[in-house]
Amino acid sequence: MLTIALSKGRIFDETLPLLEAAGIVPTENPETSRKLIIGTNLPGVRLIIVRASDVPTYVQHGAADLGVAGKDVLREHGGANLYQPLDLEIAKCRLMVAVRAGFDYEGAVKRGARLRVATKYTDSAREHFAAKGVHVDLIKLYGSMELAPLVGLADAIVDLVSTGGTLKANNLVAVEHIYDVSSRLVVNQAAYKLKRAQLKPILDTFANAIQHHHPV
Ligand code: ADP
Ligand code: MG
Repeated sequence: MLTIALSKGRIFDETLPLLEAAGIVPTENPETSRKLIIGTNLPGVRLIIVRASDVPTYVQHGAADLGVAGKDVLREHGGANLYQPLDLEIAKCRLMVAVRAGFDYEGAVKRGARLRVATKYTDSAREHFAAKGVHVDLIKLYGSMELAPLVGLADAIVDLVSTGGTLKANNLVAVEHIYDVSSRLVVNQAAYKLKRAQLKPILDTFANAIQHHHPV
């Protein structure tokens, strides 16, 4: 049995065409089904639906053989026991620093002010500000980071941005780019060796599907 860990939303939607190219079609839609284990047209392949940040954990421990996770999530997880053979170039966005419109971020940094930064991505944020020599107090949040500067919890946030629509709707502006994010295929290292016969055609099909989008 091959178990594939996916999260709902963008990652599921954008992985679906890749799975189909590999001949794998889920029997149910996770957005409407309450099931956490979803079968496919292939009796030997099933999907498990987990929180995006939990995908690496399921794969690391071998509860899933492979999965799809954002670079943001993989950076925070650390990537232990995970083989990362492919950047799928899906669910693209950017990890950014954002502040309230009108907040003088550059000025605060130049003055050497200590900044309160709210984020889910504490490792990435710590690394970013340390490299810039900016002193920060990190405040760990699990969602809706955009709210923090609006109610005085933080001076800045570190969050994922794609269109910028959420920032704009909350009167925030992006002031710094930390890194580009896309989702990668992650494979359990033991499964990569032991289930190679079942995995190889899937990995090859995914690799080809990506190359088709970016002909050289
Ligand atoms: P959560 O389960 O914490 O709500 P999200 O649904 O926000 O996670 O995001 C899941 C993954 O999708 C992220 O780890 C990231 O790689 C990707 N992602 C998040 N936001 C965006 C975005 N605005 N555009 C594209 N991809 C995104
Ligand atoms: Mg979400």
